[in-house]
Amino acid sequence: MRALALRYTDRTLSEVARPEPALAGRHDVLLRVLEIGVCGTDRGLIQGRFGRPPAGEEQLVLGHEALCEVLAVGSQVAAFKPGDLVAPMIRRACDPACRFCAVDRRDLCFTGAYTERGIIGAHGYFAELAVDKEQDLVPIPGELRDAAVLMEPLSVVEKAVRMALHAYPGTPERALVIGAGPIGILCALVLLSRGIDVIVHSLEPANSPRARWLVECGAAYCHADPPDADIAIEAAGAPHAGFLAVSKLRPAGVAVILGAGNASGDFPFHDLIAGNRTVLGVVNADRAAFQDAANDLHRIGVRRFTPLVERIEASRWRRSLLSDEPGTAPKWVHVW
Ligand SMILES: [Zn+2]
Ligand SMILES: [Zn+2]
Repeated sequence: MRALALRYTDRTLSEVARPEPALAGRHDVLLRVLEIGVCGTDRGLIQGRFGRPPAGEEQLVLGHEALCEVLAVGSQVAAFKPGDLVAPMIRRACDPACRFCAVDRRDLCFTGAYTERGIIGAHGYFAELAVDKEQDLVPIPGELRDAAVLMEPLSVVEKAVRMALHAYPGTPERALVIGAGPIGILCALVLLSRGIDVIVHSLEPANSPRARWLVECGAAYCHADPPDADIAIEAAGAPHAGFLAVSKLRPAGVAVILGAGNASGDFPFHDLIAGNRTVLGVVNADRAAFQDAANDLHRIGVRRFTPLVERIEASRWRRSLLSDEPGTAPKWVHVW
């Protein structure tokens, strides 16, 4: 079968032929990969900023945002049948399982010895076929198909919003989202759907198509210095955006850092104390967050999400992963 793999010996990306996976265990599910989304994580892997191939191998098959169709199931699989649509969860438990992995909260893994498909020590889904355990798959109702490739990034957003709302002592009125990439846009849509006023702050000019679309969705867009907010989410992947999120918190506010890299600078401990403010780091997602993602695709409406996606053939990975030229939509999705 065809797959897109990153070779670690010389860090080159190429389409490779790999053996077709087959059902091995009674709880295995054989999948046809229908769509694969790519994101900054894939670019970070190519740049060598993180990630590694499976133990003993030189290549890592990329792809961690997948929509798949079930082709065949093992004898003990109860939840799925051929033809079902599924989204795989990405992280696999550490072994032996730590106290979080043991209760199916691998997103909180205590040891750091987990693997992540397409990212850390396990092949991903940028391939024609894949096999997973039943327990690692989330069912997708057919009516969500057109936006279901967004399940994985949306699950991370759902977990971030859930943690922010849990940490905020009351009902937040205004949220600030820093960054208007796919993650920032998903944050805005989810927060708006919770009845919270949303301001998105990004570098694009206010008359850019992306900014205009966000306003159409009900968010405010701010290119200049953004106002203070009860919840501030850094979704720009830049260190200064993390500091900006923290600096824009109202009293009792909660900042969520999703992508910022490390940086040195003045961290306002006194403001945190005096204002009862909270700063959270969030990564990965649990099953409940995937379920929330499916619920929100349904509740907010698939048509709200489809403008985020530009679909191109799998063979055109150079366009999505090696070119800096933007597409017509915020997110590239490959189809076989
Ligand atoms: Zn991603
Ligand atoms: Zn663990």
